[in-house]
Amino acid sequence: MHETVEAPSSNPKTSSAGLGSLIFGDHHDELRRSIRAFVDREIVPHVAEWETTTWPDEIARRMGAAGFLGLSVPERYGGQGGDYFANLVLAEELGRGGSGGLLMGLSVHTDMVIPPLLQFGTEEQKRRWLPVGVSGETIFCLAITEPDAGSDVAAIRTRAVRDGDEWVINGAKTFITNGHRAGMVMLLTRTDPDAGYDGFTVFLVPMDTTGVIRERRLEKMGMHASDTALLAFDDVRVPDSARLGDVGQGFRLIMWELQAERLIGASGCLAYARYAFDKTLEYAAERRTFGRPLGSHQAIRHKIAAMATKLAAAQQLVYGTAISYANGEYPVREISMAKLHAAQVACEVVDDCVQIHGGAGYMAEFDVSRVYRDLRLYRIGAGADEILLDYIGRSYGF
Ligand SMILES: Cc1cc2nc3c(=O)[nH]c(=O)nc-3n(C[C@H](O)[C@H](O)[C@H](O)COP(=O)(O)OP(=O)(O)OC[C@H]3O[C@@H](n4cnc5c(N)ncnc54)[C@H](O)[C@@H]3O)c2cc1C
Repeated sequence: MHETVEAPSSNPKTSSAGLGSLIFGDHHDELRRSIRAFVDREIVPHVAEWETTTWPDEIARRMGAAGFLGLSVPERYGGQGGDYFANLVLAEELGRGGSGGLLMGLSVHTDMVIPPLLQFGTEEQKRRWLPVGVSGETIFCLAITEPDAGSDVAAIRTRAVRDGDEWVINGAKTFITNGHRAGMVMLLTRTDPDAGYDGFTVFLVPMDTTGVIRERRLEKMGMHASDTALLAFDDVRVPDSARLGDVGQGFRLIMWELQAERLIGASGCLAYARYAFDKTLEYAAERRTFGRPLGSHQAIRHKIAAMATKLAAAQQLVYGTAISYANGEYPVREISMAKLHAAQVACEVVDDCVQIHGGAGYMAEFDVSRVYRDLRLYRIGAGADEILLDYIGRSYGF
């Protein structure tokens, strides 16, 4: 290849290339502009500060007031009545904002708790929780994981026992994002230990209910802007009207929820990796070594090209799967592939971002070091690599 071959001009940052052009219409572009303006004004200046303070609840209320927390929630519950793709726009723009902890905390609220509420909630439950969730007045958390059960969801031990018209809940949940700030927890319990996958039930529990204990605030490797809680449930009494969906259907409800969540998570983590990539492009242009900009050394230029190619390919897989999902399909294999691949690519790319920054990339003051720590979670949370590989492998009959 000739050394001075001219680079074709293209915008590496656009989300509407390839399948993106089939997904995003003018109204999504308009939404993207408005979220981006908000993120630049209200989030970007505070990213570093929130690494020590965690993000303030007030930002959820401001996002709620701007309409961003209920993009695909029907208008009668205070939402914007948009489509599934609007949530992809939100995840992408939050990823671009550079706070992994905020991205994760808000997506628990908007993409993990709100969709099952809409899908399985009674009218009374929707009227009670959706308007306050969409406005950001009440923040939600989702509690599945326990000290002795993570990937193996069916091994959870938190028990809910019927007592007349009430349920009594006892148990513990760990690693719960938003657990300290939440006003309501969507809680997976075991209601019949002998019923296999039919023995689980989900409840919507106000966090101020007697017996709900917010224990330790857990310290983490990354995602420092988010709060992560150990929660205990000690004889917590809730009425039967707090039950989400049918008795015994909780496991299936959670598995349904995980699919949509994984796709949005995949999009968010790619956008966050792209944020690190963009910072790296800037650094590679500014930093000079051996008398030339770093990026103009062939080894670095090729690394950048490989990173951009991986990001683009993973993005198309996510968009292609999102199209199937939004068309009413339930493509578990493809969703698993998209989430697995997006998380792995994001981690590989940000590792290269750190490498290109050299020692600076190891310094806390450089954004790529934060992204490096934050992104590692995506290969563990919401379906670890090994679990997704297993789903994919099983889908071929093994
Ligand atoms: C920062 C953070 C935030 C989180 N937020 C939430 C939240 O809001 N709500 C919530 O409910 N949970 C949350 N989680 C929990 C998260 O979903 C779990 O950590 C994840 O599901 C993995 O479970 P585990 O940690 O118990 O790992 P384990 O299940 O103990 O697995 C350990 C490792 O072994 C692998 N493994 C397990 N079984 C197999 C197997 N059969 N074959 C091969 N490999 C296997 C796993 O993939 C993993 O790599 C959060 C976790 C973190 C770290």
